[in-house]
Amino acid sequence: MTVTLADILSAANTIRGRADATPMVPSVHMEQAYGHPFWLKLELAQPIGAFKLRGALNAVANLPEGTRGVTCCSTGNHGRGVAFAAREKGMRAVVCMSELVPAPKVDGIRALGADVHIHGRTQDAAFAESVRLAEEEGFAMISPFDDAHVIAGQGTIGLEMLYQRPELEALLVPLSGGGLAAGIAAAAKAIKPDIRVIGISMDRGAAMYASLQAGHPVEIEEPESLADSLGGGIGMDNRFSFPMCRDLLDDVILVSEAEVYRALQTLYYEERMVAEGACVVGIAAVESGKLDLTGPTGTILTGRNLDMRVLAQVISGRDVQLGDTHIEGHKYGT
Ligand SMILES: *Cc1c(COP(=O)(O)O)cnc(C)c1O
Repeated sequence: MTVTLADILSAANTIRGRADATPMVPSVHMEQAYGHPFWLKLELAQPIGAFKLRGALNAVANLPEGTRGVTCCSTGNHGRGVAFAAREKGMRAVVCMSELVPAPKVDGIRALGADVHIHGRTQDAAFAESVRLAEEEGFAMISPFDDAHVIAGQGTIGLEMLYQRPELEALLVPLSGGGLAAGIAAAAKAIKPDIRVIGISMDRGAAMYASLQAGHPVEIEEPESLADSLGGGIGMDNRFSFPMCRDLLDDVILVSEAEVYRALQTLYYEERMVAEGACVVGIAAVESGKLDLTGPTGTILTGRNLDMRVLAQVISGRDVQLGDTHIEGHKYGT
């Protein structure tokens, strides 16, 4: 099961003028500090504040005629993307969530015109409700990462990056369920076979990394993280994103909470930009010395739907407490 360059080119046609072709800007700071040109692809500038709009638009556009509605159980950027894409098509969207999801996230998705079904106290209960809607009411269920049309949509980022800067030699891609990395790697390697594509995950809760090590999908614990958009499993019946990441990624690097904390400060103080923890893992991997830059490199700033109170703590160098996860404060530049 795979996604080809032809699928990605077709996705680019489908979403053109609906998801934005985003700018890619140079980081003077990263180039000066690490000796090679470093590019930031600004997916946080998408209408929903994250790249997930690309995959959602392509998936919704490819649904069979007469589909009654769409459902998913993402509380984050995929939920927003599906809500946006369904509204645009005049189709009903139901996003299923657990009782534990904070009110602002529920409101954000309702504001895009989707219905929200609150179901049970776990993500599993919310997932079961989504499955019920699919089975009993004929809704199409769209996975955030393990769906060929979603992967092809995310892959359009790879096309754009190589179109914008053909000299790129390495791409650092935030990695969770792997839809983003699979799509980008499929596009980039079809165009430029010797480009290196490296996935970056958090060192705790890295389900794709653990699955690649094991040779099959595995479930792991998910502690709270500054990079909350990178949480979640890859699905035990994964069909697309696992085999594609296995076959296409050159490496997967893990970064710590402290490294993400520092990279959020770098983005803020050096680039004057605000983004989610999940976005800065590429910067964190370089800063941590776990990855030597060997030529022009690009990373994707994937989204900006973050808790601004947490960001305020990070930029002022205070300690951060997320559930059981404690991150020691550190003033930038000291
Ligand atoms: C979904 C998401 C990711 C990871 O994408 P996968 O396809 O699940 O690997 C990274 N950053 C942000 C902001 C996201 O919403």
